[in-house]
Formats: sequence, C-alpha cells, structure tokens
Amino acid sequence: MTDETEGLSPDDAFTLLANQTRIKIIRALGEVSTPGAPEALAFSELRRRADISGSGRFNYHLGKLVGEFVEETESGYRLNYAGIRVYQAIKAGTFTDRVRREPFELDDDCHVCGASQEAAYLDGTFRVRCADDDCGATFYRYFCPPSSLTDRERAGVLRAANERLQREIASMAKGVCPWCSGRMTSRVLPTDAEMPLRDNPAIEHRVLHACETCDGSVYTRLGGLLVTHPAVVAFYHDHAIDVTRRHIWSLPFAASDERTTVTSEDPWRATVRIDCGDDTLRIRLDDDPSVVETARV
Ligand SMILES: [Zn+2]
Ligand SMILES: [Zn+2]
Repeated sequence: MTDETEGLSPDDAFTLLANQTRIKIIRALGEVSTPGAPEALAFSELRRRADISGSGRFNYHLGKLVGEFVEETESGYRLNYAGIRVYQAIKAGTFTDRVRREPFELDDDCHVCGASQEAAYLDGTFRVRCADDDCGATFYRYFCPPSSLTDRERAGVLRAANERLQREIASMAKGVCPWCSGRMTSRVLPTDAEMPLRDNPAIEHRVLHACETCDGSVYTRLGGLLVTHPAVVAFYHDHAIDVTRRHIWSLPFAASDERTTVTSEDPWRATVRIDCGDDTLRIRLDDDPSVVETARV
C-alpha cells in the first residue's frame, strides 16, 4: 500500500513562481524568519515589507501562494516547508548566480602521471583534473551550487565540494537519491559501455546511479563508493585518520581505476585495494554493487 500524495506538478509550481510579485512576497517572508522559526506577518505588514503597491494586486498574488508555498495562521502569513525551500534556493543563488573559479593547483598529485592536480569551477560544476593537459586525467566532476564557492578561501571551496561529494555518493551507495530522497538504483557497467553524458571523466570501473523518482543520474567510480563504508572508515581510524575529511580526489582507491581489479566475470566480482601506512585493506564487491567481503592483509 502506498500513501496518496497530492500537490502541484512541477510545471504548475514553476508557473506559479514565475511572477515578480510572488517572489517579492516569498522573499519578504523569508527575510523576517530566523533559523528554525518561520515568522508570520500580518497582511498589511507583509504588503509593506514586500513593497507592493495596490492592495488588490497584492491580495490576488498572495492568494495564489497560500496553500502551496505560504500558510495562513492566526498571527498572519508565513512560509510553509516548500516556501522555505524556494526562499533558500533564491538566497543561495542556485538557479541564478553564475560563478566561475579559474583552475588552481592542489597539493595532491595526479594518480596517473604524478603531475599536480588542479581544481576549477565552471557552469555549476566542480572539477578536479590533472594539471598536465597531455595527461588529461579527470578525477571528479560534480554539480555543486554556486553558494558553495562564494566568499570562501580555496581551502573552504575544497572542503565544501568534498563534503558534498562524499555525502551525496554515500547516499547513492545506500540506494537513496541525494537530490529528492527517492529510490535510487545502481549498477556496475561493463568497462566497454558508452558514456553518454557529456564530458565525463574516463572511468574504467564505473557505476551508474539512476533515480526512479526525479530521473537524476550520475556515474561514480566503483572505489568512490567505499569512502564512507564502515570497514574503510575503521581501517583509516586505526591509523588515526578520519578518511571522511580527506579530499575524495586525493584517495587513490576512490579517484583512480588502478586499485580496482575485476577478479571474475560470472559471477562478477571486483576487488578494491586500499593502502594506509604499511597496511592494506581489500574489499570485494559484486555488481550490485555491494561489499561481499573485506580483509586486512
Ligand atoms: Zn596526470
Ligand atoms: Zn531523485
């Protein structure tokens, strides 16, 4: 049995919001709210703060928002959950800002040729690749909202991008879409499969994650799924390292194919080798991909 859901279709929601007056109302309500407490404003106070002339026009547009993005309470109007999310998106500039950060060199080396890695941000995408154009290896390429980059030093930009990558990949690895929380299915692709998405890094052992609910999809490396696996976290922890704070593009098992070996085709099995100090952790995966065995050697 499934619970019935009702609400606006995305088309209707975007149409409803494609109006300057309505956005002004959402902004005005968002600006008076404090974290954790959406503030309510009386009709006249809301109209004054939203700076909308014409009571009739204001009333009309407010009425369109009520029930969808705004709720009416005894003390006035306030944003509901959907309204708060819209306000957050406006505030963070997710759909409007165009931020760009030219490539800058990282302390980490290219896992292929040993040259430096470089990071850059362009068109909403954070990217880490080899600084040597002849090598051309790309380690990570992922959507990050522009708000993750504004007003931050380079270290902060890298921390924000790393956190997003690790958190969202961990969610995919557990079958939950990081964007809509719907069900996500993952499968290992054959090494010779086409890479239909534009400008993807060349990944030999790749996993396609696809959401049944929002149709979002993304590729990751097989090894990239393991960073937050308990066996890996514990292995690093025993070496006094919090691996979740290491940049995912700096970890050879998570950012390159060379530590991954396909050991059998039927049933499909692969082993990812993780080194730390003098110790090695081997993780066997099936094509689900699920961890089927871990061993320290
Ligand atoms: Zn390189
Ligand atoms: Zn989704």
